[in-house]
Amino acid sequence: MSDQVKMTTMSYEADRPKAKNPLKVMDLSIRDGHQSLFATRGRTEDMLPVAELMDEVGFWAIETWGGATFDTMHRFLNEDPWERLRTLKRYIRKTPFSMLLRAQNLVGYRNYADDLAEAFVERAADNGMDIFRTFDALNDYRNFETVVREIKKCGKHFQGCICYTLTEPRLGGEVYNLDYYTSKAKALADMGADSICIKDMAGLLAPYDAYPLIKALKKAVKVPIHLHSHFTSGMSPMTQLKAVEAGVDIVDCCMTPYAYRTSHAAVEPLVMSLLGTNRDTGFDIKILAKINDILEREVLPKYRHLLDDSKVSIIDINVLLHQTPGGMLSNLVNQLREMDALDRIDEVYLELPRVRRDLGQIPLVTPTSQIVGVQTVNNVLHDTPEERYTMITGQVKDLCYGLYGKTAVPINPEVQAKALKGYSRGETPITCRPAEVLEPELAKAKAEIGDLARDQEDLILYAQFPVTGRKFLEWKYGLSEPPASVRPITMEEVRKREALVKKALAGKMVEVRDDQPPKSPAIRTFNVFVDNEYFHVEVDSTGEPQLVPAARPAPAAPQPAPAVTPAAPLAAPTPAPAPSAAEGTVLLAPMPGMIVRYLKQEGEKVQKGDAVVVLEAMKMENALTAPCAGVVRGVRFASGDTVAKGAVLCSVQ
Ligand code: MN
Repeated sequence: MSDQVKMTTMSYEADRPKAKNPLKVMDLSIRDGHQSLFATRGRTEDMLPVAELMDEVGFWAIETWGGATFDTMHRFLNEDPWERLRTLKRYIRKTPFSMLLRAQNLVGYRNYADDLAEAFVERAADNGMDIFRTFDALNDYRNFETVVREIKKCGKHFQGCICYTLTEPRLGGEVYNLDYYTSKAKALADMGADSICIKDMAGLLAPYDAYPLIKALKKAVKVPIHLHSHFTSGMSPMTQLKAVEAGVDIVDCCMTPYAYRTSHAAVEPLVMSLLGTNRDTGFDIKILAKINDILEREVLPKYRHLLDDSKVSIIDINVLLHQTPGGMLSNLVNQLREMDALDRIDEVYLELPRVRRDLGQIPLVTPTSQIVGVQTVNNVLHDTPEERYTMITGQVKDLCYGLYGKTAVPINPEVQAKALKGYSRGETPITCRPAEVLEPELAKAKAEIGDLARDQEDLILYAQFPVTGRKFLEWKYGLSEPPASVRPITMEEVRKREALVKKALAGKMVEVRDDQPPKSPAIRTFNVFVDNEYFHVEVDSTGEPQLVPAARPAPAAPQPAPAVTPAAPLAAPTPAPAPSAAEGTVLLAPMPGMIVRYLKQEGEKVQKGDAVVVLEAMKMENALTAPCAGVVRGVRFASGDTVAKGAVLCSVQ
């Protein structure tokens, strides 16, 4: 199988032969790299220290713009996205620029009218964009028509994307099989694509699927084939290598500090892997090392706090298990957390493929990943055994109407009819190109924003982001003060912060907060030993009862809730007396979860601190302990029961 890659013996520098068919590489560090790892918060000033060096590497192109950068820059960084394009162009003079264009969605989240789409592409080309990597979430290329006409008119490179998605664990099945991808590639070639990109946004492309896929695409079309495969699942470096063996022309990589996790494979290991073969990139590893060094020392410390360090693993195995793209998964978790329903994540995993099938087996990529994700959570939280889709989002209605385009397979007609009942645009779905039903919008936007938009670039920004765009233009022209949160952070501040963290880790810091309460006389001290390490801990009650007295049917004297974690006075180191029978203290579920088992049964005597019940939440078992000494009463759940946050699990009397 590896007949395409041939090795010759050589030493690294002296007689490194020029490869017959060098692999071309596009660097994504300053677009998809920081979008994937640092919530797209990369600032232009932090791209400049390496810009000229990156121009020396010999990349096929550098991705500099588009995707979420346009949104986050004006919203969170107080930076004009157009200005970044012009600035980077002054530092990177030789290497072409590439941008990610969401076809008719441009760099926003809905289909925009044709006049806006044309104006956007024209201004982007004029400001320095060379390659327009264009994708549509539904792979409906009617959504390409307007922007492609304009890209060609401007004489620029049109790269057509095929969003890679699956319905099975591997390539194949009824919908997303080899035929699907080759016919999409042919359609793109017929549209005049200058290159074709397999856009594997969730890292689903397995190495032994990449090989036949790239082979088939190379056979089906003449234009170069480009592979974009996220690392998320951990497969992408292997996938890249098999793609290289199959003859892929261009691959996407990041500089190491911007690589891995939900980003992309790093360029340096690939360069070394291909050294001396007929696919040798020809890149000078020393220049790459120099760029890394600058990034590590001068740039990335400013962003480290944005890295999701909640997990040690750099691979998200949920992608392998559920094919849920990284960003989509964190959205689902956040949504469930807000609803206090994190314990239902497994139901969400089960419901997600059903919703996706109902909605036409669409690929999961911005914005369809959000559309499917939110609807799935709605179904899990609100549906009943008698009725499904009780709460349908506006975006699902738009999708059912045809506003996003044609789905891979027809939408479930029952769901579609239900979604379109009373829908404002009409109850009969459209079958035409979606933008045909959209009114021109540039003139309307100009009337709204008036002279605050001084040029076409301002107007295009406002037209896509009316609320945050207006706010940004007010900052830009000094009509209002930008908040401190959009200010850049300096290395000076980073060093101060790091020094503080170091001090804290060394246990040398006593932080006195402005709101530090005085120590009460009831404060208690504990000697805590962790693996023979000794800690001296002082614990004071906050006065906020975490436990409340059990509701008693008997006429109760109107007593204040007893402080349920009563701090014993220092003078009396004995435990607080157990509440009388009439004042039984209840044990509450501190989080939603599932009862694993009761360790103490009805009527059993317990000491304060004895484990009473084990609650599972998010796959974690939590032993809940007796709040006081007494007898366990009112056990009201059984093993396997799901409980809400705050549910009364039992009382101790
Ligand atoms: Mn990407």
